[in-house]
Amino acid sequence: MEQNLFVYNTLTRKKEKFVPINPQHVGMYVCGPTVYSDVHLGNSRTYISFDLIFRYFLHLGYKVRYVRNITDAGHLEGDAGDEGEDKISKKAKVAQLEPMEIVQKYTVGFHEVMQIFNLLPPSIEPTATGHIIEQIELVKAILDKGFAYVVDGSVYFDVEKYNKTQDYGILNGRNLEDLLNNTRTLGGQDEKHGKLDFALWIKAKPVHLMKWPSPWSVGFPGWHLECSAMSCKYLGKHFDIHGGGIDLMPTHHTNEIAQNVASFGKNPANYWIHTNMLTVNGQKMSKSLGNSFLPHELFTGEHSILNKGYSPITVRFFMLQAHYRSTLDFGNEAMEASEKGFKRLMNALGLLDSLKASATTEVEIEPLSERCYAAMNDDFNSPVLIAELFEASRIINSVYDGKLKIDSSNLQKLKDLMRVFVFDILGLKNEQAANDDLPKVLNLIVGLRNEAKTNHDYATSDKIRNGLQKIGFQLNDSKEGTNWSKI
Ligand code: AMP
Ligand code: ZN
Repeated sequence: MEQNLFVYNTLTRKKEKFVPINPQHVGMYVCGPTVYSDVHLGNSRTYISFDLIFRYFLHLGYKVRYVRNITDAGHLEGDAGDEGEDKISKKAKVAQLEPMEIVQKYTVGFHEVMQIFNLLPPSIEPTATGHIIEQIELVKAILDKGFAYVVDGSVYFDVEKYNKTQDYGILNGRNLEDLLNNTRTLGGQDEKHGKLDFALWIKAKPVHLMKWPSPWSVGFPGWHLECSAMSCKYLGKHFDIHGGGIDLMPTHHTNEIAQNVASFGKNPANYWIHTNMLTVNGQKMSKSLGNSFLPHELFTGEHSILNKGYSPITVRFFMLQAHYRSTLDFGNEAMEASEKGFKRLMNALGLLDSLKASATTEVEIEPLSERCYAAMNDDFNSPVLIAELFEASRIINSVYDGKLKIDSSNLQKLKDLMRVFVFDILGLKNEQAANDDLPKVLNLIVGLRNEAKTNHDYATSDKIRNGLQKIGFQLNDSKEGTNWSKI
């Protein structure tokens, strides 16, 4: 197992060597989507980034428990997620549906998109509504420790009291005074004692659709609570990695740490990993800004901002060409460049099986393989890895063109390297190979060759036969006609 993996930890603001709590095991919790609308491409970027991380740990031989939740209750509209209306209930009212119909629809849609982008499913996908009891227990524990207060059936976390003995701003490196100065003042109706206090349990108004009984009121849990409760249930009070988009760091994750420290005395995760945002013209892609588009719009090209459509794995490749901690700006030119690069990689892969080994070698694959691992070990640096894979593609093309010799041992290493990094770790697929239309295209070409032969145009018919052979297809002539097979 590789022991030289370095991970950027938001908590310490530096790259740290990854040391698991239990040898050979990784526990990773990632905040999942709030299922009140279609996932957009920005959300997809975050989950693709964690899929890369998940896949790399699996490749290194770790036994990974990857928990990614579904937020199906409790996420309110305000900046901190605990003011205004519940996002799912609001949508349900507008659509005149049960909240659980909304949840079902968008959970199914989310899974479809994840599958299209070739993400591995997480080990556990718990829902907030399935863990109300655990969340109530957590509120009780925080109250018992004296870090929360009850106001008219709602329970709030007392940030200023907590900060007397703990560091509330530990994750974003800001002190309380600074945070207080940057938070709007309390409104007249606010039940909170302090500006930074947040809801653990919210008493439901009569019109509210999703509510449960509790010792304090019929109500529902605060958004931050579910992740503390579910990560603890499935990964324990102390686990390896907690992740999410960087926009979740200042409030959602900061509050999660406060809840865990208040109740269990411990920051839940050793490493906090945050992915950066997909932007459009420099602005975060988000539903509320109206600059988001859906994956299927990108596949079909049916959106005013798009010049054309792109295949799902091209989009995945585009995302992986940026490091997960950099912002990635969406643009037609960048997409087109990625499409070309992806094709180049896939074409080289298509030639790999037809390469012939020589008795001697002019190329050594070991150093290239080491550089690929070095890229991934440097905080999952997929753009550097992809640059190395382009180097591998150049080697493949040169061997294919007879300009470079490779022996059988290095050829095998090259095949293994491509399979492992392109498919297992980057999670790319050769969509061309999977294309159902391929037989139709081949039959058409065979028909054209037969026509050429009938016309005694043997130059053309031989050109077609040899051309097909070069890309791995053999033509078999018989009395019944001509058929093709893969070499
Ligand atoms: P939500 O469903 O709004 O809770 O978001 C689900 C996940 O998508 C969170 O981890 C967010 O940080 C992430 N996210 C939201 N917008 C973007 C974006 N433009 N780029 C990357 N990730 C995003
Ligand atoms: Zn969360």
